[in-house]
Amino acid sequence: MTSPAHAAKIIDGKAFAEALRGRIGAHVTRLGRQHGLVPGLAVVLVGEDPASQVYVRSKGRQAEACGIRSIDHRLAADTTEADLLALVEQLNQDPAIHGILVQLPLPPQIDPARVINAIAPDKDVDGFHVINAGRLATGQRTGPEAATVPCTPLGALMLLRDRLGDLIGRDALVLGRSNIVGRPMAQLLIQESCTVTVAHSKTQDLAAKCRAADILVAAVGRPELVRGDWIKPGATVIDVGINRISAPTPEKPDGTRLVGDVAFAEAIEIAGAITPVPGGIGPMTIACLLANSLTAACRQNGLAPPQL
Ligand code: NDP
Repeated sequence: MTSPAHAAKIIDGKAFAEALRGRIGAHVTRLGRQHGLVPGLAVVLVGEDPASQVYVRSKGRQAEACGIRSIDHRLAADTTEADLLALVEQLNQDPAIHGILVQLPLPPQIDPARVINAIAPDKDVDGFHVINAGRLATGQRTGPEAATVPCTPLGALMLLRDRLGDLIGRDALVLGRSNIVGRPMAQLLIQESCTVTVAHSKTQDLAAKCRAADILVAAVGRPELVRGDWIKPGATVIDVGINRISAPTPEKPDGTRLVGDVAFAEAIEIAGAITPVPGGIGPMTIACLLANSLTAACRQNGLAPPQL
């Protein structure tokens, strides 16, 4: 049972994402009514990776629930890079498709960077294209040339702003420097006028650096790496990690469960607020993909994107 004191500290990403999807759905309905426009999202899956199949199904279901037309392209695991690039080009040219997402990881014969950078930057709803990374790094967040921000860090920023209001002057530590989470997260926090430290596998005395942070974002993929005593009292903790660990019980000797990169039970005693795993950042990622798809559809039709 969660005590009332603990409950107040939990940042409920699931509820926030549900409300966000509600707002997206309302805007999509208005877009259809006023402009006859239905946002279209193409999701490309190459191969049979079971986790990717689950993500793609979930993305499609949630898009449709918001009124976004979602079209899946499922390709065989031995698809060539040339064939995938040809499909991306066809989707780039299709005016009914406003967002293109190529599910990662891709099979080894395909260079993910070449494929991502073949997507038209304005249709790159994952925000991984080098043009979008450059726009974000140079602080281009508004106007027709605004960066499309990767979904996971965008979701994390929304939760931080909701919890803390403005983030100006806070000390933030981003644990992880991947192009998908850590780097864009650091860019967003710089833009919010935080003082940002980026830590990674070569960082010395990680615990001490974490202890100095008012905002701690963990995106490492190491189960419960961040311990309770690494956290500054009252800090806001965003746990991006999704790790499946073994959790045998007498009934289920091969049982597993999901944990984050933060030892939640310890951390909640010290932190001011924390996202749980599951139910924190995970649901925000898909909701932000839908937000990016809506924004892309508006921009490609010369309409101002809604403030979500
Ligand atoms: P990557 O493996 O691409 O990056 C991991 C980062 O963590 C690297 O920068 C690495 O450092 C650093 N790192 C690894 N081990 C340590 C360590 N012991 N100490 C300090 N730093 C370390 O992972 P992603 O960024 O793609 O994902 C991170 C986590 O977030 C994963 O658990 C993933 O499943 C999850 N995730 C969740 C999403 C969601 O929707 N909630 C979406 C995307 C990811 P170095 O650069 O030096 O190698």
